[in-house]
Amino acid sequence: MTTSNSSKEISRKDFIKGAAFGIAGIAAMGLAGCSTDASQNSPPAPAEGTAWDHETDVVVVGFGGAGGAAAWEAGTAGSEVIVLELAKTAGGSTNICGGLVTIGGGNALQKAAGFEDSPENFYNYLTAALGTGADEEQCRIFAEQSPAMYTWLTEKIGVKFNPGINPLWPDTPNPTAGLTCTGDEYHMDYAAVSKAVHRTGWVDSETRPGGRDGSGFFQPLLRAVEAQPKVKVMYETAGEQLIYDHDKKRILGIKAKQGDKTLSIKARKAVVLTTGGFAKNEDMVRTYCPAFNGVLALGTAGDNGAGIKMGQAVGAALQNMHMAFSTSTAYAYTTQEGCAGGPLSQGIIVNQFGSRFVAEDHYHSWVAEYMLQNHQPQKHLPSYLLFDAQMYDTLPDKSKESLEKAKVTKANSIEELAKALGTSEGVLENTVQFYNSKVAEGKDPLLNKQSKFIKPIATAPFYALEIVPTSMFTVGGLRINTKAQVLSAETGAPIAGLYSAGRNATNVIAQQYGGSGTSVATCFVFGRIAGQNAAAEAAL
Ligand SMILES: Cc1cc2nc3c(=O)[nH]c(=O)nc-3n(C[C@H](O)[C@H](O)[C@H](O)COP(=O)(O)OP(=O)(O)OC[C@H]3O[C@@H](n4cnc5c(N)ncnc54)[C@H](O)[C@@H]3O)c2cc1C
Repeated sequence: MTTSNSSKEISRKDFIKGAAFGIAGIAAMGLAGCSTDASQNSPPAPAEGTAWDHETDVVVVGFGGAGGAAAWEAGTAGSEVIVLELAKTAGGSTNICGGLVTIGGGNALQKAAGFEDSPENFYNYLTAALGTGADEEQCRIFAEQSPAMYTWLTEKIGVKFNPGINPLWPDTPNPTAGLTCTGDEYHMDYAAVSKAVHRTGWVDSETRPGGRDGSGFFQPLLRAVEAQPKVKVMYETAGEQLIYDHDKKRILGIKAKQGDKTLSIKARKAVVLTTGGFAKNEDMVRTYCPAFNGVLALGTAGDNGAGIKMGQAVGAALQNMHMAFSTSTAYAYTTQEGCAGGPLSQGIIVNQFGSRFVAEDHYHSWVAEYMLQNHQPQKHLPSYLLFDAQMYDTLPDKSKESLEKAKVTKANSIEELAKALGTSEGVLENTVQFYNSKVAEGKDPLLNKQSKFIKPIATAPFYALEIVPTSMFTVGGLRINTKAQVLSAETGAPIAGLYSAGRNATNVIAQQYGGSGTSVATCFVFGRIAGQNAAAEAAL
């Protein structure tokens, strides 16, 4: 362990940049690529007079989870599809992600494990837990489509979920279970409005034996798309500029770069933008998402915002661009095998005043997001996870070892700890005293933590683990409706011939992230919707 207060002299950006990448299980995954330039918002090319190099019904731009789902649906509906993929291989972030996908609403896996869920119950959770900016119509569709998405994944695509559930702390974790619970379902605030159930599917890796990651759902999807006779994939081909037909007032295709060549590809029915988010585009992060600037960006080089810019260039509205998923160094201790609430959720998280600001049993991204988006981020970067000797003693050896390498301040009294951390005079002492005074009642009147995590912070020595954000990906994008049609910023009406899904678009994810697995689930649900509706358009 190291003891340090020097962080206060370091700039916020340097500080969060230097933070370790601490998400267990995903640390080893490829974080390919660096910041690349997205297309420069060039206006759409006119369709009039274009010499087409290729013609098809539907062009899908980007072959990750959302693009794969869209291409599969459009191909299944009988449309000819061209999929453009910037990289040499398909998969994007979806293939390298943690392998978690939200599956709610009452599916076979939930039922087999004894959980009673319904689309209504899931919807109630979503609208409560996603916070400001959650689109209720999108949440409704997402919840209603979730059981069908599970059936699609398992019966049509061939994704396998292991039997069994991963239980919550303090029960012994089951790291190979197919059903887990990574979100805030069991947090008191949400359990009050929606019956708490497990609703996160977790798949084994296909590419790393013994591991768990997104290849467990993406590789079957890739095979399913490749098996579609009418779907053609063009790799190392980057969509760059949408083509607009001024006469018909709709998107009619796209210009794409393949080596030195610029191809004009006609989409007789529609173009579907599924190029991922913009975490790897530093300019865009600085512009739209400044609170997260400097936090390690997760994803691939494809997360450069190109699809968002292409949509913007044809007048599309943007939504929730300032929001992102983020996590922190508290993750390893306040979760258990990915589930919200771990051994050190018994501790308290305080800012530099010495005040609590987030319940310690919340889904882990809340901690980092609250720190970064707080109105006084300079007083939250870093924050501290406080715990006592009894809590330390209950930690598994693995956690004790990782604490040895972390920035931890140790002291024999709360007063001494407050002094070492430099918190505002008397505040930390007061925070701990008030917290401890409610322990006998098993209550947390300030932040409503579950009673199983409420223990006195009373036995010396006392520890303070420094908490900083460790990684992020963006969740804002083109505004779409429940049909996945891209909406105009000027009129709010759909831009004819243009669809979007995945992190290229905004959907249910808002101020808060609903739980690990939400992003991939939205890719599959809205990717499928985009593909179905694009295929149903009249061909020009
Ligand atoms: C390490 C890591 C762990 C994660 N863990 C989870 C998790 O467990 N569960 C979860 O729900 N979410 C997780 N996420 C987030 C989630 O993986 C992504 O948000 C989601 O997969 C995005 O899917 P997508 O289809 O929108 O984009 P992607 O899967 O990234 O696909 C976009 C594709 O478009 C291509 N592309 C980009 N620009 C162009 C262009 N101009 N022309 C053609 N092609 C282009 C890209 O190369 C890429 O292949 C994780 C992310 C990372 C990086």
